[in-house]
Amino acid sequence: MLAPTTPTGLSVHILTDAARLLAGERPFAARVQDLLAQLRSLIRFRDGRLTCWPHGDGPHGPFDQFFDIDGWREPWDEPHMRMVAERRIAAQRLFGEGWAYAAPITWSGHLWGVLELRTPAAEPFQQADQELVLALLPILAGAIAAEYATPAATQRRTNDLAPAQQRAIREISSHFEEPTALETLLATILHWALSGTGAEAGAISLVDQKSGRLVLHSHEGYGLTPLSNERSEEARQRPWDSGAAKRVAESGRTFLLRDVSEDPRTRPGTPEVRAEVIMPIIHEAKSLAVLQLDSPRSLAFGEGELAFLRALCHASVQPLRRAMHTQTLLEASTQLGQVFTSMLDGLALLDTQGRVLRYNPAWMSRWGLGPIELDQSFQVPWDLVPHLLPRLQEPLALTDFDARCQQSPNETQTATIQLKNPHQELSVMAVPTRDSFGQLTGRMWIVSDVTREREAERMKNEFISVVSHELRTPLTSILGYTELLLARDFAPKEQKEFVKTVYDEASHLSQIVEDLLGVSRLESGRVKLNQWVVSMRQLIQEIGAQINIQATSRHRIMIDMPQQIPPAYVDRDKAKQILLNLLTNAIKYSPKGGEIVLSVMEATQLPEDHPPGRWLMVSITDQGIGIAEEDLPRIWERFYRVDNSNTRRIGGTGLGLSIVRSLVELHGGRVWATSQVNKGSTFTCTFPIATEIVRS
Ligand code: ADP
Repeated sequence: MLAPTTPTGLSVHILTDAARLLAGERPFAARVQDLLAQLRSLIRFRDGRLTCWPHGDGPHGPFDQFFDIDGWREPWDEPHMRMVAERRIAAQRLFGEGWAYAAPITWSGHLWGVLELRTPAAEPFQQADQELVLALLPILAGAIAAEYATPAATQRRTNDLAPAQQRAIREISSHFEEPTALETLLATILHWALSGTGAEAGAISLVDQKSGRLVLHSHEGYGLTPLSNERSEEARQRPWDSGAAKRVAESGRTFLLRDVSEDPRTRPGTPEVRAEVIMPIIHEAKSLAVLQLDSPRSLAFGEGELAFLRALCHASVQPLRRAMHTQTLLEASTQLGQVFTSMLDGLALLDTQGRVLRYNPAWMSRWGLGPIELDQSFQVPWDLVPHLLPRLQEPLALTDFDARCQQSPNETQTATIQLKNPHQELSVMAVPTRDSFGQLTGRMWIVSDVTREREAERMKNEFISVVSHELRTPLTSILGYTELLLARDFAPKEQKEFVKTVYDEASHLSQIVEDLLGVSRLESGRVKLNQWVVSMRQLIQEIGAQINIQATSRHRIMIDMPQQIPPAYVDRDKAKQILLNLLTNAIKYSPKGGEIVLSVMEATQLPEDHPPGRWLMVSITDQGIGIAEEDLPRIWERFYRVDNSNTRRIGGTGLGLSIVRSLVELHGGRVWATSQVNKGSTFTCTFPIATEIVRS
């Protein structure tokens, strides 16, 4: 019917060939491709582009584009194309370095598309070329409408998968029924996408639902680019988080670049990529992930590939949601697990019977327990008590605490448990735990070591009491006696006695202030030793003379010293301070008098933890009030004073021995004590002997 009226010798067989090409069974993209190829044999043009509006509603609706490109990388003349579409009139105009000819494809009142051809500026399209294009338009319009608009066509497109692709989708769907880890699932989706479409490279990113950013999870086929050899998180995100992929994630619409020359502004990340498809995996209008495929082959992604990808993305939605949910739970539980493990406080989760369900490493170390294995039959506190018994200050403390927990299962209970050898204070808290229905499931025991806090608190209190008592007592008597002396005249003998008392009290005050300053200097590491070779014999004789003046008639001070003792390598003043302090204590804590023996000798046997070498050992033994076993380890602490009626009466700051210990240890030596209540005590310290090595 067309043949007789075809203009300028256009033969019928051209049009029938065109109709046959467009009516074939192959995917629409391939058919359009064939048509444009055939057109090339009739008209000279560089690039061809067919824009289709599947609903016949012109340039406002979604569109598909098909290209036949001869490598011209200039942008297409979009305003010209739109103008042709709006006016529905074919037109040619100069654009860039060539001519652009565009013709509207209309049929039954609808605009189905625009066909564009372009050619270099020197060779505009002739009248005959334009007429040939115009003659082809109705056939094209029919093909587009048939492809897109009929219900049968829609149905055909969803079933448009090749049998191999349909098999792949079935296989994928059944594979997805198994729960899979998120990373594996993403890598699998990508892998299938690549093998199902034949694309050379691809990547899959998850959309961060809070920030909207894309986070790359898997990629294949790119080599080092576009990851550009950088491994940091930021670098990983850069190429994916901008441009087309981001727009796809935001809009939820597939991006298809059949060939780079379609629109040079949307260049893919790497120069060798010519065709690209980016498809979102959507659930309830939200993009969960974005799948991107790239190929160096122009027109690598046709209808068949797109249909397969759509089916793949659709099949991936539920498995992806499941895997993301599992991943979120896994991450939360890993984070909680890390917190649990790294807590400094001991934590143990118990069931209602007190059986340990879970515990962290600190739980063992807080109780001072070694690596015993707590299985689910380990019951707290019953199985804990035998391990702790040698150290529990009050053996019933833990069982009493548990009894309180049993009586009030809904309440949080706390207790302080005192351990001995070494002294430790543990704060124990038992918090009821519940399941998601609010039912009691047991308790969480939290154990923290509060020794230092309690110690600091005790020291603060001791300090206040020392300052208020120890400083105030001598001050009161100084003030009292000076007031008396000022108020009236006394006999010279009496006057002298008063002044002596004032002097003694002032010396005592000065000693306390000296001790306080000494402790703070020692603590801040500001005390430096001025060590010399010192004759201990001479030093001890001096101390003996000095102490004899202080000692009361009730005490006898004996010095037991061999004829020959090697010289010591010490700070003379500090060594004197150490020994005077120990001797003064021996006198002070022997209120009923008795013998005090100071003995010196070269050590033949040293305590286990003592540094090796030659040492002088000085011991001071008294027959005084003695020290109870549990107090012995603590007398070296600052402000620690044994609390009993004797010591309260005697008074003191609790600083002397802590200063002694620091000074002895500064010399490299050790100090220790043995004692029996009401029998007496022996304090022993060591000083380095001035050997050749020390002197050099
Ligand atoms: P202070 O004597 O000022 O109280 P120290 O630090 O010198 O302080 O001594 C700490 C505690 O050790 C004393 O409070 C006392 O209870 C005990 N102590 C020290 N030396 C003796 C000793 N020779 N005999 C008995 N108890 C002693």
